[in-house]
Amino acid sequence: MTFSIHGLAVARGIAIGRAVLVASSRVDVAHYFIKPEQVAAEIERMRSARDVVIDELQRLQLDIPKDAPHELAALLDVHLMLLMDEELNSSVVHWIKERLYNAEWALSNQLEIIARQFDEMDDPYLRERKADVEQVAERVLQSLKGTGSPVAKITRPARPTRPQHELQLGDTDVPLVLIAHDLSPADMLQFKQSVFTGFVTDVGGKTSHTAIVARSLDIPAVVGARTASQLVKQDDWVIIDGDAGVVIIDPSPIILADYGFKQRQGDLERERLARLRHTPAVTLDGQKIELLANIEMPEDTTAAINAGAVGVGLFRSEFLFMGRQGNLPDEEEQYAAYRRAVDGMNGLPVTIRTVDVGADKPLDEARHDAAHLNPALGLRAIRWSLADPAMFLTQLRAVLRAAAHGQVNLLIPMLAHGSEIRQTMALIEQARQDLDCRGIAHGPVRLGAMIEIPAAALSLRLFLKYFDFLSIGTNDLIQYTLAIDRADESVAHLYDPLHPAVLRLITDTIVECNRQGKGVSVCGEMAGDVTMTRLLLGMGLRSFSMHPSQILSVKQQVLRSDTGKLAMWADQVLESDDPASCMTH
Ligand code: PEP
Ligand code: MG
Repeated sequence: MTFSIHGLAVARGIAIGRAVLVASSRVDVAHYFIKPEQVAAEIERMRSARDVVIDELQRLQLDIPKDAPHELAALLDVHLMLLMDEELNSSVVHWIKERLYNAEWALSNQLEIIARQFDEMDDPYLRERKADVEQVAERVLQSLKGTGSPVAKITRPARPTRPQHELQLGDTDVPLVLIAHDLSPADMLQFKQSVFTGFVTDVGGKTSHTAIVARSLDIPAVVGARTASQLVKQDDWVIIDGDAGVVIIDPSPIILADYGFKQRQGDLERERLARLRHTPAVTLDGQKIELLANIEMPEDTTAAINAGAVGVGLFRSEFLFMGRQGNLPDEEEQYAAYRRAVDGMNGLPVTIRTVDVGADKPLDEARHDAAHLNPALGLRAIRWSLADPAMFLTQLRAVLRAAAHGQVNLLIPMLAHGSEIRQTMALIEQARQDLDCRGIAHGPVRLGAMIEIPAAALSLRLFLKYFDFLSIGTNDLIQYTLAIDRADESVAHLYDPLHPAVLRLITDTIVECNRQGKGVSVCGEMAGDVTMTRLLLGMGLRSFSMHPSQILSVKQQVLRSDTGKLAMWADQVLESDDPASCMTH
């Protein structure tokens, strides 16, 4: 029966595909497709991991002290029985054979299915047995660790055939959409170049980092869909409407046809926009507007160039640091990555932001900072870098070295205090000296600060004394001005880019930079939101940095705008108590 779930629209377009549920196990599970010729070996890998656990449990059974409560022995019996359960094992084998899931994915997938069956049981005793199945599965997952493919990537080539309503299970050619409770930004990164044509998560806000990476994948996505991962079943047909933030499950043929039509309209619109790629971004009144790209990896420069970006306005370097189990990239590795980005932009400027981990961007799942009560207010971004000067110096040296090969801007996130600015400046100087002492080439960089904390937006004089340019990180600026966690869908309705206080901080920053002849851009999600383009132009903004996928739509807005007229209108919006009501200009 058709039903729909409402969430937050984060990446536009329509996706239609079969649901792949990614289980949210407590153990970090790698999800990737294996090749058909690896099926037998993968089943064997699964069997030996299970045998190791059976062995362990049998040994434990022998070692149980005589006076131990008999429940312990009974529990081990239950776990052994589960491990040897034919149905469980054959279901896992089914996922490996039919779907080419790796062993971990197959097991955690089956675990999710069983967990749901337990949840639906009336008998409380039986319901509680779910924990036993989970414990057993997690033991096997632990035992599988380190025995699989080192590349935990989903690499099955996508073949986006149009879905018919009736499709066979096990058909490996149909489009797939990903449904998960939550995905970390690092998980999302793994899904780049993946087979999924859309995705949905239960949690997350519009500017959570998971949503940001989703936007960079340029596939329709909905986050904050609350119970989607419980309501959608493996293999269900799902429509993701990334424009409306709606997920439709098991659509009727009529609904399917309707969305198929919308999907084709979207494709046509993209083709039309693609013609603007080489058109200079100039307004009707002749103002040149700089449209830059936000990237997460050096390889994203290809998408930036293809979209006609005139530079990278934000390289979120932290993505080089994530999911590495604490083995952070050394100077050479970072230098090589920054250099790839610089080379990839063919002489266009690249703004590298120093590492911004913490809050909703943990380095590793296992190191997720649950110990801190308020991670978004904790040791994040520049605070983290200054707390570990050796690590920070390594990054600074790598950036300065890359600057010898092209135009590089160095951008510092989350600054608020004069003392942080001065420490940062001293460390940049020290990094230069270290390189000079080692006789290693480095280049000049323009220095920029992100304006993400209201305190920074209210201390512009201090910032402009030290920095060549400012970049307004509206995602955090909104979060910190309004005290709304950007990743929390339960307060997403209060996350308001048009709040008068937010608009005031943004406009004051733009006006002051323009007055002093310093560079200023917006690199938060607001810069790529076409409903905000004219307002930002009216406020005096001339430089926008966004995901490559949004550049052409924003350019279209720019080409239709007259900044003189927009400035007068923007003044009215800024004076209004209800700016949203003035937006239909
Ligand atoms: C921002 O806060 O607006 C920003 C661009 O940085 P990030 O989204 O990475 O926190
Ligand atoms: Mg930020």
